Amino acid sequence: MSSTKRFGARYGRKTKHNVAKLEAQYFNKQKCPYCNKVNVKRLAMGIWNCRSCSAKFAGRAYSIA
Ligand SMILES: [Zn+2]
Repeated sequence: MSSTKRFGARYGRKTKHNVAKLEAQYFNKQKCPYCNKVNVKRLAMGIWNCRSCSAKFAGRAYSIA
């Protein structure tokens, strides 16, 4: 019981840290690979849209690169 609890806490803390890191990228605007302007927002999971040059492209779920 005690060993399982210790493992769970460690795993949970690391996951929380990773999620916060990913969410920061998800909420912030990304740099467009076509016009280099930081005006790209995520439309859907893995789909990004640049509001400057209207480029729509596929990327990773939470960030472009
Ligand atoms: Zn663009």
